[in-house]
Amino acid sequence: MIPFLDLYRQFKTIDVSINNAIEQTIVNSSYIGGDSVKEFEKSYCDFLGINHTIGCANGTDAIEILLQAMGVQPGDEVIVPAISWISTSEAVTSVGARPIFVDVDPDYYTIDVEKIQSVISSKTTAIIPVHLYGQPVNMVRIMEIAKQHNLKVLEDCAQAHGSTFNGQLIGTFGDASSFSFYPGKNLGAYGDAGCMCTDNDDIARKARRIANHGQEGKHNHIEEGRNSRLDGLQASVLSVKLPHLTDWIKGRNKVASQYLSGIDNSDVIVPNTIGNGGHAYHLFVIRHSRRDELKSYLFNAGVSTAIHYPKALPFLECYNHRNFNESDFPVAARLQNEILSIPMFPELLHSEIETIVSLINKF
Ligand SMILES: *Cc1c(COP(=O)(O)O)cnc(C)c1O
Repeated sequence: MIPFLDLYRQFKTIDVSINNAIEQTIVNSSYIGGDSVKEFEKSYCDFLGINHTIGCANGTDAIEILLQAMGVQPGDEVIVPAISWISTSEAVTSVGARPIFVDVDPDYYTIDVEKIQSVISSKTTAIIPVHLYGQPVNMVRIMEIAKQHNLKVLEDCAQAHGSTFNGQLIGTFGDASSFSFYPGKNLGAYGDAGCMCTDNDDIARKARRIANHGQEGKHNHIEEGRNSRLDGLQASVLSVKLPHLTDWIKGRNKVASQYLSGIDNSDVIVPNTIGNGGHAYHLFVIRHSRRDELKSYLFNAGVSTAIHYPKALPFLECYNHRNFNESDFPVAARLQNEILSIPMFPELLHSEIETIVSLINKF
């Protein structure tokens, strides 16, 4: 079976350094906070070229805490794309605000930037562009629209470590950005982890405070916060992996170009990259009108695939009360039935890619 993702292959290339880093964290007993967390936060700032990185428990918390730190209030409206992992809209609801969905672009599958203005109301306070599958959103247009309407921008970069737009790293355009280090992401920990990044000192201070029980200094609780920590073991794993990230993104792009030059089945739509965009290929998502048949055909031939996601956000049961129709989000409604994520990770073998390509071409 060709796996959809094989994290053990990556571990084998760095096992000695990982084991040493884990052992060192245990020797130092720096499980919570401490040097390994500080060191990773500093390295991630250097990687992005940004002033503040605040580790937290996962990428979902990162969105929620940043929305609060940016001043999003209960009753506010926050604009999100119709296709994402549920964290994006769930975090909006968690802070008492209302997610306002916008259909996605038919070519790039990220939020349709030109449809944003039509949903902006007097209650709108923020936009969350999601760099879905590693495809960068046109952040120049997003920032123009945000400026014009005085909106905050939070970039959901959970799938886009290493993506660029106009040569600039994703996560450095908005007021703040959230990252997930869920094991399967482009930069993955060995458990749950996430971080929040910003150049804004005020947002950084508030986010760090909220994630640490509202404390500024020990036992000085300015407000009620919560507990959302990046733990020392995960931080030490991430510090070993971060220096490899650029090579891994190159590896993902190599796999993508082999797919792009190999797949020539005229019923298959392969991914496009937005102009001036650097795709980080967290996922390689193809389309076919008989997607379910293609998926089982590949499975029977020994290739694992996945669907990201079988239902667009507005059509999930949890949003039934919003009474959305497929005609409200026609692009997302169509994509959810056609998209198929095929194996994508830097250690995928040339021969495995050849097998996958030839199976797709024969379908
Ligand atoms: C993975 C993901 C998240 C959430 O990250 P967790 O670390 O799993 O909480 C948020 N947004 C998107 C787009 C994701 O893919």
